[in-house]
Amino acid sequence: MTQFKRRKSIKVDVGGVAVGGDNPIVVQSMTNTATEDYLATAAQVKELHEAGSELVRITVNTREAAQAVPKIVSELDKEHVNVPLVGDFHFNGHILLREFPDCAKALAKYRINPGNVGRGDRHDENFKAMIDVARENEKPVRIGVNWGSLDQDLLGRRMDENAASKKPREAHEVLIDTIVESALTSARLAEEYGLPAERIIISAKVSEVPDLLEVYRKLAAGCTYALHLGLTEAGMGTKGIVSSAAALSILLAEGIGDTIRASLTPAPGGSRVEEVLTCQHILQALGLRSFLPRVTACPGCGRTTSTVFQELARDIEVHLEKSKADWARSYPGVENLKVAVMGCIVNGPGESKHADIGISLPGTGEEPRAPVYVDGEYVKTLEGASLTSDFIALVEDYVKDKFGTGAAAAK
Ligand code: SF4
Repeated sequence: MTQFKRRKSIKVDVGGVAVGGDNPIVVQSMTNTATEDYLATAAQVKELHEAGSELVRITVNTREAAQAVPKIVSELDKEHVNVPLVGDFHFNGHILLREFPDCAKALAKYRINPGNVGRGDRHDENFKAMIDVARENEKPVRIGVNWGSLDQDLLGRRMDENAASKKPREAHEVLIDTIVESALTSARLAEEYGLPAERIIISAKVSEVPDLLEVYRKLAAGCTYALHLGLTEAGMGTKGIVSSAAALSILLAEGIGDTIRASLTPAPGGSRVEEVLTCQHILQALGLRSFLPRVTACPGCGRTTSTVFQELARDIEVHLEKSKADWARSYPGVENLKVAVMGCIVNGPGESKHADIGISLPGTGEEPRAPVYVDGEYVKTLEGASLTSDFIALVEDYVKDKFGTGAAAAK
């Protein structure tokens, strides 16, 4: 598989999770519970972590939220959930981190938005206060710029300078450069205040894919800080997933990005876990990490007028999803498993032979028989009402045989 060359970045330890350097790209997510409700927040952190989130960010916006942070950590400890928590601060982080030292200690990282730390003289003062707490507690920070809350004083200055220049540029270009500048100058200011580069991660999120590419290419060229990558306000459903995948994939393929988040809006009552799975699928599709056995299924066409193969593809996906936690414990390496479920003889046998285990279902007009291939070799033909359960049993046998304890030694 093609390997993408990673940009060199400085490694940051976030509560035991290594971000940047040569380390795997880290998946992160954010809760949407009221942090004050420490039980609900701990439950959602657990859910996100169990789905694969390696860092979880929580809002810390009020005194009550700051007081809840140590309680959340203690609830997670009771459940043996060991995931670093990142505190998301805006407007009053300098106050909360000082007033609630237990909160500052319990968090593994602080997210600071340089556009939301105050204006004028207060800006640097408040920013320094947060960096001081990070320094004293030996915590890393993320300097997280967002174009919806860009430092208005800085933007105003840059717009005025541009307007006064002989050849004014497009306002949008100035905006993009100011987003990058805000992130880089804030990170350098944090270093001046004594926080080492090994404790600084930066991000500069925008909501349009082409803009995000430009911003991150500039950030990557302008520093060696570890980069948190994400398209902000990606939106709901397919649109949100596709936009995130488009933006993140291009940058990751260019070697840019050390930790990622998909900022998806869940449907009412929908699961927050979707953002974790989206990140995992992006990384796995690019061959950067493996999380889950994969099903290769053809889209179907005029040769598949029955729904048999769609049902089988779905049932296999459901089975893999259901089995993944148990398999991960018992069968190391099973996340690399490839299963093919194909609709007819045109590409069915060929694609099935490329998978670890594959089945080529009969298309319209073909004999109602489905040959199964294991490690590229034909092994048997399935047919009849039990076809799905028979194939799942073959997948189970394959997993035990190939990934079970002692399987490698036996071969
Ligand atoms: S493998 Fe067969 S059924 Fe599937 S898309 Fe190709 S031609 Fe159509």
